[in-house]
Order: sequence, then C-alpha cells, then structure tokens
Amino acid sequence: MIAVTIRDLNKQFGDHLVLDHINLRIEPGELFFLLGPSGCGKTTLLRHIAGFYYPDSGQILFDDQDVSRVPPHERGTGMMFQSYALWPHLTVAGNVAFGLEERRVPRAEITRRVDEALGSVGMNAYADRKINQLSGGQQQRVALARALVIRPRCLLLDEPLSNLDAKMRLQMRAEIRRVCKEFGLTAIYVTHDQKEALSIADRLAILDRGHLAQVGTPREIYRQPRTKAVADFIGETNFVEGRAVDPAGNAHEWRISTPLGDFMGFKADPNWELHVGEPVVLSVRPESWKLRASAPADGAPHNRVQGRIGRTVYLGEVAEYDFQPTGVGNGAAPLKMFELNPRFLEVADDTEITAFVAPEDVTVLHP
Ligand code: ATP
Repeated sequence: MIAVTIRDLNKQFGDHLVLDHINLRIEPGELFFLLGPSGCGKTTLLRHIAGFYYPDSGQILFDDQDVSRVPPHERGTGMMFQSYALWPHLTVAGNVAFGLEERRVPRAEITRRVDEALGSVGMNAYADRKINQLSGGQQQRVALARALVIRPRCLLLDEPLSNLDAKMRLQMRAEIRRVCKEFGLTAIYVTHDQKEALSIADRLAILDRGHLAQVGTPREIYRQPRTKAVADFIGETNFVEGRAVDPAGNAHEWRISTPLGDFMGFKADPNWELHVGEPVVLSVRPESWKLRASAPADGAPHNRVQGRIGRTVYLGEVAEYDFQPTGVGNGAAPLKMFELNPRFLEVADDTEITAFVAPEDVTVLHP
C-alpha cells in the first residue's frame, strides 16, 4: 500500500493548460475516483501517474519516492483500460502470465501467481480458454487479474467498465471494490459514470477545466457541493438565484430571498465570507422536495413554493415532475422534483400544491 501525492502539477499541451496546479494526496489503500466533464483532464492526470506523460512542473510521489520522471515500467503500477488490450492468440492464463514472463519471474512462481490472480476474480475454470471464447464481463475479469498479478503498488483504472452492459457493470464495480480492498490496493479510477463513483469510491475528486474543483467523500460531494460547477456536474439540481438576507444562529446557515420566496440554507464552503445583500445561487436537489396537497396554515413562511405539476415522467418507483411555481410574476422556470412511491401523478393540472424543502437540503453557493 502506498500513498500517491501530487504536488503542484502543471501540464500544457501547446498553449492549452490541461492540468492547472493540481495538489492531491491519495491515501494508502484508498479507492479514489477522478470525475469531471469531458476534456477536464482526468485521463491526462491518470497518465501522469502511470508515467506516460511527464509534468511540465510539479511532482508525483509514491510514498516518499519522487516518480515524476520514472518511466512507466519502473513504477510498478497495474493498469486496466476501457479496451482490455488482451492478446487474442493467448489463453486466459497466458494473458495473465505475460507481465510476469516479461519480468523473468521463475516458472513455478508464475503458475502459482496466475492461479491466485485468476482465483481472486473467479476465473480459474477458464484458464485454458482463448480470449475470443469469453464474454465481455469475463474478459474484463481477465484484464483485472492481469493488472493484479504483478502485485502493483497502485492500480490505475481508466473507464474499465464502459464496454459492458448495465447489469454487468453493476456486478463488476462491486467486484473491483472487493478486490481492491482484499489486496489493500491504492487505486485511482477514471470514469464518466457518476453512480459508479458515488457507489464504490472512498473519496473522489471533481476536475473542472484542469483544476481540482472539490475533493471529498461521495456524500460530501453530493450533499455539499462547494461550487455551482460541482453541483451541476454531480447528479441533477435546481438553481435558484437570490440575495443573502441575514445569517441564522450559526455562520453557515443563512436566510436567502429569492423570487420564489425566502429560503433558509447552508453555505457549503466554510471559507466563504458571505455578506448581507450579496447575490447567491441556491442548489436544491430534485429529490429533496416534499409535496403536500395543502399548506398548513401555521407552517414556517419560508422554504416552500406553491405551484402546479406540469410535465411528468413515470419511472415506476419514482416520478419526475416539472413543478411550475405560481403567483411569482413573470413565469419562473419550472423546478425539477422527484417523488419516490409517487402519489401526485393523478393530481389535476390546475390543482395548486405546496413543495417544501428542509434548510439542510438547500446549499448556498457563489453565483
Ligand atoms: P474525456 O472524459 O472526454 O475522456 P478527459 O477529462 O479524460 O476527457 P483528457 O483526455 O485528459 O480529458 O484531455 C484534457 C484536454 O487535453 C482535452 O482538451 C484534450 O483535447 C487535450 N489533450 C489530451 N491529450 C492531448 C495530447 N496528447 N495533445 C494535445 N492535447 C491533448
């Protein structure tokens, strides 16, 4: 198990700064994800850790060793990519043994380690099969065994599951987490799939145009996004513009006035010194709203919106609504709301209902 530290790393392609002062520490044994919109620099960062690119400035450390300019084959990283790059003319065992043969490991040890690696991904029974006789999921397991067999100091995964169907992805992502934890591996994983990241990551980093927008646990990133870009990138959300009115008892909770009414909400960035009157934007996730047929007369006069349900999408366990606020003057944009075990699907178009949201589900952000 090693820690991977990235210190003030910069990389430019032509005049395009692709990685911009990246500082990051990945703890020993951590399953760490890199996420962000297409072109934000995820793969480029992973390729620096693998050694395919050298930084223009800054350092990459494996524990205390500076590997910034160490070639890939001397870094001891195991890799698993979108295209499995397995040798079609070799058997499963032959593919897994390949890296050990290159390293001139003695034959008896190769046999033992290949057997062990195939065992860890449940593929012993297929050792003598050719690669083209395997399903996509099985090929993926072989690719994982091949990465594990060299006993890597660190496992690097770039979209490893993107060629698989939805069901197989679910199965394999759980499998990857199990194997990483079993081997105590430090693993760095690039994906487009937010659910993959949220469900198995210990922590994740969101990259935005080459800089680190936020690093945290899945819950921190989803529930307390620090910027509008992060809130927008992870999951779905509603943005509502407003102005800071006054802080509540503690400095993180604020009353915000918006065209939809007042909301109490929490600043996610503790270092942000918000001032009275300052423009802000609120982020409210669609699943945070609670719908009621009628508003209680004695309810709090904030964190509620009156409106009508417009377009609905029924998805079985959940319904998605476009909720059109009423009495707000010139056409406020509809709010997206999700209702689990839907009850409001049959409500007539002209019926006014009330949507509530708890202050802890309202995130106050820089506009
Ligand atoms: P995606 O999710 O689409 O794979 P990404 O976040 O992995 O994107 P990168 O592949 O790291 O993004 O690319 C980051 C930026 O650097 C992009 O604008 C890309 O066009 C550019 N880029 C990547 N590799 C090179 C290269 N070898 N030469 C020049 N520009 C490059």
